[in-house]
Amino acid sequence: MRIAIAGFQHETNTFAPTPTEYNDFVMADSWPGLITDQAVITATQGMNLPITGAIETAHAHNTPQHQITLIPLLWCAAEPGGYVSDDAFDRISAKICDGIAATSGCDGVYLDLHGAMVTSSHFDGEGELLRRIRASIGPDIPIAISLDLHANITQQMVDLADLITVYRTYPHLDMAATGARAMAGLLRLLSGENIYAAFRQIPFLIALPAQYTGHDPCRSIYNHIGHISDNAHEFAEFAMGFSAADIPDCGASVLAYASTPEQAAAMASDISEMVIAREADFDPMLIDPYPAVIQAMASPHQKPVILADVQDNPGAGGSGDTTGLLKALCAADAEHVVFGVICDPDFARAAHDTGTGNNMTHALGGRSGVADDTPFEASFTVEALHDGIFTYTGAMYGGGHAETGRSCLVSVTGARDIRLVVSSYRTQCLDQCFFTSFGIDLSAARIIALKSTIHYRADFEHLASQIIHVAAPGLFECRLNRLPYRHLRGGVRIG
Ligand SMILES: [Zn+2]
Repeated sequence: MRIAIAGFQHETNTFAPTPTEYNDFVMADSWPGLITDQAVITATQGMNLPITGAIETAHAHNTPQHQITLIPLLWCAAEPGGYVSDDAFDRISAKICDGIAATSGCDGVYLDLHGAMVTSSHFDGEGELLRRIRASIGPDIPIAISLDLHANITQQMVDLADLITVYRTYPHLDMAATGARAMAGLLRLLSGENIYAAFRQIPFLIALPAQYTGHDPCRSIYNHIGHISDNAHEFAEFAMGFSAADIPDCGASVLAYASTPEQAAAMASDISEMVIAREADFDPMLIDPYPAVIQAMASPHQKPVILADVQDNPGAGGSGDTTGLLKALCAADAEHVVFGVICDPDFARAAHDTGTGNNMTHALGGRSGVADDTPFEASFTVEALHDGIFTYTGAMYGGGHAETGRSCLVSVTGARDIRLVVSSYRTQCLDQCFFTSFGIDLSAARIIALKSTIHYRADFEHLASQIIHVAAPGLFECRLNRLPYRHLRGGVRIG
């Protein structure tokens, strides 16, 4: 059996002003840059990536009697951001389609996709990619895809892919496991198994701060889905959707697969009813910056309080440079604060020019045109400089590294120990390495402020006595009734 494999991941924030271009996919960030051919296998080895799990599963099923040959084509991802340009989408899609065509008859296809890609011309990027692949290979060759938990799944994707799997954890600790599940399903399809899909869209949007799978209602729902999926021949998936996408299919959805259409439909209906019954429990629990800081300062506990700057998460298309939470920390005269990762290449360059131990006066952040956000003007002491290659140590990306460009640690002059990690490229602060690489003892902080929505929980939650979701200005608005949606399908509730 010859199986073509490829990956093309993007989570598109249609409210972010900067389009995502081809070079954004070429560049390495927390994941590899654009890789092709055998590098798809070698450069992703050992990582918590869907394609890695898919490759390992194919290798584990490869026997002399049932030989499996993988044909690696391409893998790429870009940091979440604005619409994917037609140029980027057309070029990368063409490489995948041409690669599949050049196999002159593969038996199956596995794709590592996100599920929330929006291009300048297509609301449903993944559906359009699948349409182009089907136009090339016809309807019969099985295609299995794995998607992010934040996928906005469409009927087109369900119709064009024979099988879809979705991460079941947020933070995404099971990316490789989800790819493995898709490959295992593809192998069953190739052995002649028949499955039928049922698809239900949930009639309300779920804000990302309410999607943490460690708490209810998400924990119960995913426990249920995991339980009914113990039998590989019948399984279900639940994607909670990516709310910063102004498209008709924005939102959560349920998929069920079974050996009869009736069984699949019954499973999908049961799960969607279970989700709908919990609508009121999906609460993002947002607090404005100043009261959030006051609440953190009043904590009676020894352990630090985490202030999550959930609306300026680069991992959801945020600029990583808004200053609302930083200003609130200074205004409240908070002490023993560490805050990361703020993206400001001009500031990082100035810090490198200034040198360790020296002082500088410089504007920081606030330059991305976010409403109600302005630069933070202050004097700083440059505490330490960094080349921006950070090696992840947490469960989500452990073993990989982040490329953030020239970076630094500075302290705010006149404040009571407020230290900031500043980078040159946008990066989500989901791993302790961004602080520990500077020798910071996080347990000694009173407040840890993080530009991340939920992913930080995997590596920081155990350090904290309390976690507060802060609604400071950012490009990733989590109060969904403030977003100027124009394209949602009729009847979708936005909370
Ligand atoms: Zn995600």
